[in-house]
Amino acid sequence: MIPVCNPMLGGNEQKYVNDCLQTNWISSSGKYVKAFEEGFSAYCGARHGIAVTSGTTALHLALAALKIGPGDEVILPAFTIASCAFAVLYQGATPVFVDVEPDTWNMDPRLVEEKVNRRTRAVMPVHIYGHPCDMDAIRAVARRRKLRVIEDAAEAHGAEYKGQRAGGIGDIGCFSFYANKIITCGEGGMVVTNDAQIAERCRSLKNLNFLTQKRFWHQDVGFNYRMTNIQAAIGLAQFERAAEFVANRRRNAQLYQERLKDIPGLVLPVEKDYAKNVYWMYGLLVTREFGMNREQIMANLREMGIETRTFFYALPGQPFLRKAGVKAGGRFPAARRIAREGMYLPSGSDLTVTQIDQVCEALRRLRKGR
Ligand SMILES: *Cc1c(COP(=O)(O)O)cnc(C)c1O
Repeated sequence: MIPVCNPMLGGNEQKYVNDCLQTNWISSSGKYVKAFEEGFSAYCGARHGIAVTSGTTALHLALAALKIGPGDEVILPAFTIASCAFAVLYQGATPVFVDVEPDTWNMDPRLVEEKVNRRTRAVMPVHIYGHPCDMDAIRAVARRRKLRVIEDAAEAHGAEYKGQRAGGIGDIGCFSFYANKIITCGEGGMVVTNDAQIAERCRSLKNLNFLTQKRFWHQDVGFNYRMTNIQAAIGLAQFERAAEFVANRRRNAQLYQERLKDIPGLVLPVEKDYAKNVYWMYGLLVTREFGMNREQIMANLREMGIETRTFFYALPGQPFLRKAGVKAGGRFPAARRIAREGMYLPSGSDLTVTQIDQVCEALRRLRKGR
């Protein structure tokens, strides 16, 4: 089976993890957490990095650090993972959705302002499948309407917008290091920011909000979102190879592009002038012209030993929102279309040219034999 994504753990991972075990530094203190935070945040062009337990907790921590709570609204793309809306709901705030661009599949900045009202506190662009959002346009609205910008860069390690790395562009950037992300710790996440005060609040909140002067005395509710030194040991070893992983993802995309571009019925991912896309997952849309629908293609590929995945469902209309009393007003035609037609191909950093040839040949045969 050619998997959708495998982690590549052939670097210093084992050595650093063994070091944790041999030195007894297995909890969230220890040198790897610090080294990983410093290294990765600098890579994103941010002064501060706060390692946490997942991408979902990174998003929650960011919202909590900005004191976003009940009565506040946060603007999200209609097409993203549920974590984005969950994080808003954890804080008792309300997610408000905008549709996405039909080609980048990212939040459409032109649709943001009409959703802003006096309750709106923040906007959360999500760099979907590794393509950065149009950040200048989003920042312009945020500046005009005094909103915070929280980037969800969980799929965009190393991606660039006009030469600036994803995660370091808004007020706060959030990353995931889940096993299929471009850099992994198994499970893990990080908040990055240039704002010292936000960073300080994140550090305190993630560690139960202990008072420094009076331990075990708590002014506010806190969380335990601490990443362990063992996770950070893996993360640091992965980070050492970030350039290689990003280059591999981009090479995969180029090979797919060359081999698939003339197959009718496949809409391939784009890379805008302003963007360096890291192609976390190589996603594409299947249109009628292919002569076979997405589900049939996926079933056929599976039989040929090729694993694929469907895109996210659009968030508006999902049961958890209704149960939370959120009315996702409006229509989201682009999000609904890509959710219906989108799938991604094997995309790991360890894919070989032979495997990519196999996937593309299989798609070509399916199209011919329809
Ligand atoms: C993976 C992902 C997350 C969640 O990260 P976890 O570490 O799985 O909690 C959040 N946002 C986006 C866009 C993601 O792809």
